[in-house]
Amino acid sequence: MDVLDKAKVVSGLGTADRQPYVCLSCGSAFEIQYHSCPACGGYDIRRAKWVE
Ligand SMILES: [Zn+2]
Repeated sequence: MDVLDKAKVVSGLGTADRQPYVCLSCGSAFEIQYHSCPACGGYDIRRAKWVE
């Protein structure tokens, strides 16, 4: 996971490529768009690129 973490720092765009969806409630990122966030149960899951 060190390589991925470093890549996030370098790119500044973090998980957007591999995990394009993000929960607006808790900030968790996902590879697919869940109907509800598996981490916090929230429903505000959007494409990460739209959140910028
Ligand atoms: Zn969440």
